Formats: sequence, structure tokens, C-alpha cells
Amino acid sequence: MSAKIIDGKVFAATVREKVGTHVARLKDEHGITPGLAVVLVGEDPASQVYVRSKGKMTVEVGMNSYEHKLDVDTSEADLLALIDQLNNDPTVHGILCQLPLPKHLNEDLVINSIDPAKDVDGFHISNVGMLSTGQKSMVPCTPLGCLMMLRDHHGSLSGMNAVVVGRSNIVGKPMANLLLRDSCTVTIAHSRTKDIEALCRSADIVVAAVGRPEMITGDWIGEGATVIDVGINRIDHPEKEGKTKLVGDVHFESAVEKAGAITPVPGGVGPMTIACLLANTVTACCRANGLAEPEGLTA
Ligand code: NDP
Repeated sequence: MSAKIIDGKVFAATVREKVGTHVARLKDEHGITPGLAVVLVGEDPASQVYVRSKGKMTVEVGMNSYEHKLDVDTSEADLLALIDQLNNDPTVHGILCQLPLPKHLNEDLVINSIDPAKDVDGFHISNVGMLSTGQKSMVPCTPLGCLMMLRDHHGSLSGMNAVVVGRSNIVGKPMANLLLRDSCTVTIAHSRTKDIEALCRSADIVVAAVGRPEMITGDWIGEGATVIDVGINRIDHPEKEGKTKLVGDVHFESAVEKAGAITPVPGGVGPMTIACLLANTVTACCRANGLAEPEGLTA
């Protein structure tokens, strides 16, 4: 059996289209343009690429994009002052502080200084608490993207056995909470988990968020299971000397023979993350203005 490939590029384009439609409605009917402010401290090359593409896509869906690029040696006080200014700016509905921050800045302090209602990354402690207690919150973008793809493929996830491999605050834990909220029976596996292969094999859904290239092979996957590969790992290209390639945490070629559905890397979860950032921004804008939220763009 060869799995259905869940195309994240196509799915993300449909999410962006829905966001764009809602943005147009907000402008036409209410005279409101959602705005996303992205703060980048320093010149980390990967972060610069992410920030550029976030800005580009924000504008493409009709929203305002505000980029704040700060020197690598910006003081914590100056960064907090900027966030305070953005918290109080009514034209800004979403604030994202690109991580990782330079070492001298306290990431928790900075993230928790963002107004939770504008915390479109969903990392603020209030949003984490609200997600885990089943309240309406801003949901971290990558797990939200995974959830959307799972719901689209399965309809209801109720009663399914899900194994999330990885327990990070940005992917593993919120993913597990979202699956639990959709009434899955959830197991979180990590580096100390015993017999992780058997655990994965027993799952209807495997979400891999480990950061280990191709760790999860086909013999870890139960026949017909759905596999969501969050991992993004750059490895030396096996056939092209001096070149690199991107792979996931799942060994795609073997897993595709066992799974019922699988996300590829690249082109799976990755494109969904920015699409969900845009979705969160339009949701935040609607909530800030007491307007109906767009359907299908929240958890
Ligand atoms: P972290 O490094 O924060 O967490 C990795 C998790 O994997 C930890 O909980 C760790 O366990 C667990 N782990 C590590 N080794 C093993 C092992 N051998 N067996 C079982 N579990 C293991 O990573 P992130 O959650 O931030 O990211 C995970 C992957 O997802 C990365 O490849 C990252 O690049 C990618 N990613 C992709 C995004 C996207 O947009 N597509 C967004 C964010 C991340 P323990 O806690 O015990 O150490």
C-alpha cells in the first residue's frame, strides 16, 4: 500500500485564500485592516529568511505588515518598550517576536510581555494555560497547522490513538493538548520513552516532532496510520557531493509504504506554519473588534 500524500503547499494556499477573503470582508464591511508586527533582534540568517517570507505573505493576503529589526545588542529594556508600544497600538492585532533571541535577552520574559490577545505565536503563558484547560486561546501555529490537516483528512478525530513524538513547548505539548481536545487518546513520547517503536506502531496518528533526521522508519508505523512529520533537518545529500537536502523526522520512503496518509518534507507541515500565523492574526483582529471569527481557521 502506498499512502495518500497530504500536500501542505496546496492546503496552506487554501488557508491563505480563506484568510484573504476574510481580510477583504473586514476592510469592506468594517474599515479594518488586520496588522501583524514581527520583531527581529539580530541577524540570524534563518530568522531573516522566515521574517521576510512572513512579511511577504502577510501583504499578499491584504494585511498590514510591520517589521521591526533591532540590533543584536539591543537591551531588554528597549525590546520590552517596543513590545509595550505594539501592545498599545490599535492598528497592530498580532505580535510575533522571532525566536531564538540573542542570549542576553530573557525569552520567557519577552514572550510573556506580549499582550496575550495579540500573541499570534500562542507562546504566552496565559495562552498555554488556556489551551491546556480547553479555553479559547491563541494556538501555536505549527500544531494548529497539523490539526487542520488531520481534521481535513479524517473529519472527526474522536477516539483515535495518537502518539506525539517530542515534548517541546512549541510543538509536542500543544499538539498533544489539541489532539486531546479533539478527543484522541494521546501519548507523548520523548527521549526517555521505552519501546517507542511499538508505541508508534499501535497508533492511528503519529506526529513526529523530534529534530532527528529520518528517525521514524516504516517499521514503526502501523498499517494505514496517518503520519504528520513536523521535522525539518538539513543533511548532506546522499547522492550529490557537497550538496545538502531537507528531510523530516520520518524516513519517508519506508513510511509511505505503511501509512494511510503522510505529510512530505519539504511541502508538508512547513507551509502550514506561516498560513496559520496569518489565520491567527485575522482571528486576533476579529476578537479585538468583537466580530465573528472566520470559520475553519481556529482550533
Ligand atoms: P526540540 O528539540 O525542542 O524537542 C525535541 C523533542 O524530541 C524533545 O522532547 C526530545 O525529548 C525528543 N527527542 C529527541 N531525541 C529523541 C529520541 N531519540 N527519541 C524520542 N524522542 C526524542 O524540538 P522542536 O519541538 O522545537 O522541533 C522538532 C522538529 O520540528 C525539529 O526538526 C524542528 O526543526 C521542527 N520544527 C518545524 C516547524 C515547522 O514549521 N514545520 C516548526 C517548529 C519545529 P526530551 O524532551 O526527552 O529531550
